[in-house]
Amino acid sequence: MRVRDEAARISGEITELRHAIHREPEIGLDLPKTQAKVLAALDGLPLEISTGQGLSSVTAVLRGRPGPVVLLRGDMDALPVTEETHLPYASVIPGAMHACGHDLHTAMLAGAARLLSARQAELDGTVVFMFQPGEEGYAGARQMIEEGVLEAAGARPVAAYGLHVSSQRLPCGTFSTRPGAMLAAADQITVTVQGRGGHASTPHRAADPIPVACEMVTALQTLVTRKFDVFDPVVITVGSFHAGTTDNVIPDEARFLATARSFSHESRAALAELVPRLIGDIARGHGLTAETIYAAEYPVTVNDAAEAAFAGETIAEVFGAERGEQAEFPLTGAEDFSFVLEQVPGAFVMLGACPPGNDPLTAPTNHSAHAVFDDGALADGTALYVELALRRLARGAA
Ligand SMILES: [Zn+2]
Ligand SMILES: [Zn+2]
Repeated sequence: MRVRDEAARISGEITELRHAIHREPEIGLDLPKTQAKVLAALDGLPLEISTGQGLSSVTAVLRGRPGPVVLLRGDMDALPVTEETHLPYASVIPGAMHACGHDLHTAMLAGAARLLSARQAELDGTVVFMFQPGEEGYAGARQMIEEGVLEAAGARPVAAYGLHVSSQRLPCGTFSTRPGAMLAAADQITVTVQGRGGHASTPHRAADPIPVACEMVTALQTLVTRKFDVFDPVVITVGSFHAGTTDNVIPDEARFLATARSFSHESRAALAELVPRLIGDIARGHGLTAETIYAAEYPVTVNDAAEAAFAGETIAEVFGAERGEQAEFPLTGAEDFSFVLEQVPGAFVMLGACPPGNDPLTAPTNHSAHAVFDDGALADGTALYVELALRRLARGAA
């Protein structure tokens, strides 16, 4: 039987697991209930299973015939969002929702483990299944690497693949990838402008941090357009700005938070250097001081050109050319699978899960309290994981 048909045959149990995970979302690095569901789903399969020390990860190794190692990754964590979808399997936990579709990734990867286990005898090598907590800002992938996921099979993987569903833009069941930069690097900028508070009617006797902080916000946008190549773009968005308590008091300080997105090591390094300098110079220009913390979060997610081409060919052969697209541009989102792809050549593939009947261009996006991911994507996502592993192992170590 074709892998696609096998995946369709077990789609009921994949869907059931997805709904169970969706109902009880967990946030961050410690996901005991999700981990238990994954372990139960893998129970009885011929896998070497280990769990994380500092996080509730699951690493499962499936050994076939002697050959290379391939890694498949699915992330498991939810977001601090209160679900508003009113789906029958909606989150029962206020303030937590699988709004990025990681419940689908986990269920698809468990389904792939089941199908590949059934083909153990014909497997030309070893598959590592990486069930990862803490993608949403906790760098769980980096922690799993530190705990040895890339050495779990004894030899390092020759290739690594990750899938991510999207509730919009792509029609349900459409795959999208590209060579090179696939997703942005994301860094966090925290600025504290230190002034001197006073009476709002006599600002010359105080050192007002608010107009200075406002000047910094607009100067950051000028930095973006004047210091960076338009063909190697960066995004800076100030998403949080706080100062003061009322209209007639000048506060001592103002604080803001920004995210910085970039697509090359050069631009990312330039941001880390130029942003603190600009902030400091503006503060000094007004006789104030400012502290900038430029915190590196996730690197650029870079697809290996050969592995992205291989993933594209696999999609076309298994599902038909019309089901795959080569994305023209990277996405400005970020992923901690980037830490894996810094060490292992591989590809990150987006999978459309917008419910049929909804317009992909206007459907609520990932991270929205209204985001809906269709179960119809589950079987094909599972099949792609399986086909990527089977076909990549058959190609050998090169
Ligand atoms: Zn997300
Ligand atoms: Zn995500």
